[in-house]
Amino acid sequence: MISLDALQLRSIAADVLEALQVGDTVSVLDVRKLSDGAWSIEFEDRWPDTRFSTFTVEVERDWSREAAARELRTTLREKLWICPLCQRRALIRRLVDLNVFRVECRACGLFEIDSDVMDLFRSAYEDGDDRIVAALSRLSDATRRAGSPLSLGVERGQILIFSSRGLEEKIKI
Ligand SMILES: [Zn+2]
Repeated sequence: MISLDALQLRSIAADVLEALQVGDTVSVLDVRKLSDGAWSIEFEDRWPDTRFSTFTVEVERDWSREAAARELRTTLREKLWICPLCQRRALIRRLVDLNVFRVECRACGLFEIDSDVMDLFRSAYEDGDDRIVAALSRLSDATRRAGSPLSLGVERGQILIFSSRGLEEKIKI
């Protein structure tokens, strides 16, 4: 197997930034080989609300192009606070002592989401799971239109939508 080199990794990272639509604020600063043969890709984030103005992502030396791209997409979605519903940048905070995130998104409004649901939505989007991806735009509409912040959970193959009044809707996935 031919290992990836620095130039290829730079181009994969640039493609991932474009795919995530963050190419205007995030760029690749450096690609370095570590002593154990793995690669370290350093990013710079110039977004005003950034969590990390620079950060690195490691790519193992024997990874394929696709494995490297997937690792970059997954890590960048988390580090850059990509909204799990609309895939745009948002503000995401973990609520103290809870496995719940509060998302403040310009497109979807303010809502809360269990970390399990966040993981489910992100991997579904990554894997092109059509049923869940179709539910995401519906959920984005629901959170945007709600009078008060909705809360998203999951149970036995159903997405649960709670409002301050209690369970509002279940969506089968
Ligand atoms: Zn959103």
